[in-house]
Amino acid sequence: MKRSWTRRMPGAAALALMPALILALAPAGPEEGMFPVSEIPKLDLRSKGLEIAPEEIFSPDRIGLIYGIVQVGATGSFVSPDGLILTNHHVAFGAAQAASTRENDYIRDGFLAPTRGREIEAKGMTARITESFRDVSAQVLAAVKPGMDASARTKAVEKKIKEIVAAAEKDDPGKRAEVAEMFAGKTYVLFLYATLKDIRLVYVPPRSIGEFGGEEDNWMWPRHTGDFSFLRAYVGPDGGPADFAAANVPYRPKRFLKVAPEGVRENDFVFLLGYPGRTYRHTASPFLAYEEEVRMPSVAEWYAWQIALMEKMGEGDRAVALKHAARIKGLANTMKNYRGKLQGMRRVGIVERKRAEERRLETFIAADPGRASRYGGLLAKFAAVYDEMRRDAEFRLVLGYLRSGVNLLSFASTIYEASLERPKKDIERESAYMDRNFAQTKRRIALALDNYYEPTDRAVFKEILLRGARLEAARSLPLFAAVAAAADPAKAAESYVDDLYRRTRLGDKAFVQAALERPAAEIKAWGDPLIELAAALYPEAKKLRKQEETWNGTLDSLYPPLLEVKSQFQAQDFIPDANSTLRLTFGRVRGYSPADAVRYHPFTTLDGVLEKSTGREPFDTPRELFDLRQAGDFGRFRPEGFASVPACVLYDADTTGGNSGSPVLNARGELVAVNFDRTYEATINDYAWSADYSRSIGVDIRYVLWVTEKFAGAGFLLDEMGVNGGR
Ligand code: ASP
Repeated sequence: MKRSWTRRMPGAAALALMPALILALAPAGPEEGMFPVSEIPKLDLRSKGLEIAPEEIFSPDRIGLIYGIVQVGATGSFVSPDGLILTNHHVAFGAAQAASTRENDYIRDGFLAPTRGREIEAKGMTARITESFRDVSAQVLAAVKPGMDASARTKAVEKKIKEIVAAAEKDDPGKRAEVAEMFAGKTYVLFLYATLKDIRLVYVPPRSIGEFGGEEDNWMWPRHTGDFSFLRAYVGPDGGPADFAAANVPYRPKRFLKVAPEGVRENDFVFLLGYPGRTYRHTASPFLAYEEEVRMPSVAEWYAWQIALMEKMGEGDRAVALKHAARIKGLANTMKNYRGKLQGMRRVGIVERKRAEERRLETFIAADPGRASRYGGLLAKFAAVYDEMRRDAEFRLVLGYLRSGVNLLSFASTIYEASLERPKKDIERESAYMDRNFAQTKRRIALALDNYYEPTDRAVFKEILLRGARLEAARSLPLFAAVAAAADPAKAAESYVDDLYRRTRLGDKAFVQAALERPAAEIKAWGDPLIELAAALYPEAKKLRKQEETWNGTLDSLYPPLLEVKSQFQAQDFIPDANSTLRLTFGRVRGYSPADAVRYHPFTTLDGVLEKSTGREPFDTPRELFDLRQAGDFGRFRPEGFASVPACVLYDADTTGGNSGSPVLNARGELVAVNFDRTYEATINDYAWSADYSRSIGVDIRYVLWVTEKFAGAGFLLDEMGVNGGR
């Protein structure tokens, strides 16, 4: 029998039956929280400033605003009946890069399709729409049997989730199912998504607008970046999702958002809908200390090293620079985010604060014998897991860098693992090799091969060999041991890598794609040195995976009692951490004070863009913007009290990565900005939110429309959105 949840969100009755995600809502801070849409009815948004009925946003039996929201890597929203999507420049960046050549440099010059027929494929992008969701905690947790060890627990939960997903996808062919863990080890929700696969570039501004300020201004206020792009979703002539094809037609969304050309004002109520990636507010202090002391410093340093290398490789050769552009941008974004977090964690003393909170919690536990027997020793158990993790952390990090940083080894490992996993029953395979994911795995490799540049890959490999050779634990592996034992380790690493790259065939795209389908015996017979290396490293990788399963299993069994006792202690309930599922967050347009005697205004303007311009990247504003300013050609986009067009806007809604591209909506549910970043102080949102400094940044809709109409000459897009411009 088909389940009762059809193409809609679950009915009110089904919602009421959901074991409470949030025990009873009492948000911790004034505006903190990324709320699952099922919680909207409990939020009393009208009293906060919302002027429409909350059911207009989400209701089980209506096509609410949430149907206008898409996941395109991060977030985007439909802004026309013909599938036009508004998102960030940095979200479309990878696709613009993939479409760029030395002759057609869409990163430098931007891209505009003058007609629909000229819209081009946004390679690697898909658009997902949340169609329904249902609590499956009881089903998932039924798989956990008493007496299971931690690793078996993790495996049992993973297997049950795969079964639930498989059944859901069978019930609803063409839809994609995913189970999201809302509270670790406790609450699981099955989401059903429609996935559109033909996404095209419509308008991408040049980097000098879309990424104005570059890394220097990234994660900063005052900000002047026109971080927006337009895409369009296409479907097959039958209206169903289809791969890119000339015969496809624009998708007609169930709902699209109305754009409000008049924008917002200071103190206005705003809310965002989107897919925030990951927050860690319900963790214990040992996790935070591990992040602060071990993982983030290592990753930030490693990314800095790679960025410097790639920048050097691209000097003087635009084609090479283009190949590296998206990777550099991604690494630099994370690196600066981590630096901001590290600085913020120290400034606010997050770990110490959490420890103090835990000490109070321990006193509370000890005060009652019932509680003591149920929750006693919990926090010590957390600490024990992280103590163990710290032991070989550097080695595990280096192995991770090897797998993610060296392209050819990553292809080799995927080929080798595919040959082992693909013959298994689908449900027993590692997730990347299941039928539902394998096409995507292959696409990811094809895309990485397009950007592959051998000298960079070799240099990264060599560096990792040298780093590993310095670690005692890594020397248990022959490749690191050999380098460590050599009289001249740098030379040994060089000739080791040289030899591999001379003999391997994995730089060849057709070969790699075919190899992903070949049986293990055949692959072995090729004797490709990188595949042999991947095979030799495989047992170690398995061992580490098993170790991680054990840690995760232990943590998963510790979180539910921790949350339970914390909610008793604080007499307050919790909002689940972000986990890439659809959320609502709200707040007001507000400035803040980043330091003594400094007060930030919540709007920047075109005049600020021009003031910052130096003529050199990343502050190289196109001449036309100066001309338009000089002519006072603002159309209808200069509000009263402003000397020019507002560029970016600040608000205190609670966001994180993944909220990039989220529509910022006014009290009437109309789009007034596109979220793209947070301030430097707010990078620690992921661990702790504060009304004082947690601010998010959006590109003001007036700047989006003004640039699109006046600079790009694409007034037809304003017409399509039903905005009549200032012509
Ligand atoms: N700019 C950010 C990102 O893409 C968005 C955020 O994290 O607030 O990572």
